[in-house]
Amino acid sequence: MKTFTHLMQEVQEKGLCHHCGGCAAFCTAINYGALELGEDGKPRYSNKEKCIECGICYSICPEINELDAETNNLVSWSPPMGRILGIAVARATDPEVRNRATDGGVVTALLLHLFERGRIDAAIVSRKAGPFQRQPWLARSREDIIEAAGFYFDTLPNIPHFSEAYSTFSPSIVELKDVAQKTLNRVAFVGSPCQVNTLRRMEVLGVVPSEAIKIHFGLFCAGNFQFGPEERWRLEKIGNFTWDQVFKVNIKEELLIHLRNKEIRRIPLQQLTFMKRFACQFCEDYAAEFADLSFGGLGAPEGWTTVVVRSPKGQDFLSKAMRADIELLKLKEKPLQAQVIRGKVLEWSEKKKQSAAEHFQELEKEAV
Ligand SMILES: Cc1cc2nc3c(=O)[nH]c(=O)nc-3n(C[C@H](O)[C@H](O)[C@H](O)COP(=O)(O)OP(=O)(O)OC[C@H]3O[C@@H](n4cnc5c(N)ncnc54)[C@H](O)[C@@H]3O)c2cc1C
Ligand code: SF4
Ligand code: SF4
Ligand code: SF4
Repeated sequence: MKTFTHLMQEVQEKGLCHHCGGCAAFCTAINYGALELGEDGKPRYSNKEKCIECGICYSICPEINELDAETNNLVSWSPPMGRILGIAVARATDPEVRNRATDGGVVTALLLHLFERGRIDAAIVSRKAGPFQRQPWLARSREDIIEAAGFYFDTLPNIPHFSEAYSTFSPSIVELKDVAQKTLNRVAFVGSPCQVNTLRRMEVLGVVPSEAIKIHFGLFCAGNFQFGPEERWRLEKIGNFTWDQVFKVNIKEELLIHLRNKEIRRIPLQQLTFMKRFACQFCEDYAAEFADLSFGGLGAPEGWTTVVVRSPKGQDFLSKAMRADIELLKLKEKPLQAQVIRGKVLEWSEKKKQSAAEHFQELEKEAV
């Protein structure tokens, strides 16, 4: 039976671990207690003696292809970018949500809709934890859900220094331990494509507490980025701004730096490879292909969210929230715009798969 020791050799030592946290979350949630996440976000043994060699941490790691066929089957995945039942552009009807949101606030509006109608008890989200830092959070009230909206990097001028450890990544799966401890059984999950992939692998094996996740919301992801001192300094030079001018940061086709004076600095993502996490270079999933609903700013006008509907459950949840909590941009009247958006999501998905394949080839060459 392969265990975490093999994950260390086959995934971590090659730099392929993207810190989704799934291995440690499972081992903790079921109380084996052999693993933990270190301060650097990497999983590690906390007490190797406690490992009962169940092999589950190994099987659920998305960098291990043992469960690929079953996972694809579970979500009816099909090429070129997973199952798609429809694509919509939408925004929250509530201006308070829109004002706090990254794009159109659809993720937050949907979570609120589900929570207020008693369809979920909680949501795993990510909230601002300090300057340039977010942390996973189990939101259990309307206020919690609204507080976690958006993708802001608080850069208030009075804050003397940035977090050294900052990256845009939030290991949201670690909140599964709280889900298990609090015996919640109707939870929505919001996270990156890699995290959703890990959760689906847990679902394939039927391991706790994946059965508590009732809906998977995936965020488009071109990569996660490190914001260390060197990276921040280089970004200031590339974008011609200073961090004390910044109000919010967003990723679409470019990195968008929103300044307090309403100007936006646009930095092409190709110029950001110096700050991209190493493991993200090997990732094939841009549009959260294993989610029920996937969300991104790509293709949508400013202040709106592109939504990819991937499962009947996602479709049901979205359609019930329409009108009262979410309004749709009428794409039926603009069939060309709908095609353009789909084309963009496909273009970015294919680009990411191709780039991952090239990086894997390089890695193999280096190994030889
Ligand atoms: C790291 C990262 C990279 C992204 N890259 C792209 C991209 O390349 N192209 C693109 O089109 N869109 C990208 N997105 C998605 C985009 O930024 C929006 O999240 C998405 O469009 C939904 O917008 P919204 O206004 O509907 O969401 P909101 O209503 O603002 O809700 C956003 C939700 O995401 C959660 N969240 C915020 N930050 C994180 C995080 N780091 N990890 C997990 N959950 C988080 C919040 O808690 C909240 O629940 C990325 C998002 C993240 C977090
Ligand atoms: S007990 Fe199971 S999940 Fe935990 S480290 Fe050992 S093999 Fe992995
Ligand atoms: S499950 Fe996630 S955190 Fe664990 S080794 Fe694999 S990629 Fe890394
Ligand atoms: S690029 Fe891939 S591995 Fe990196 S955070 Fe996004 S989904 Fe995860």
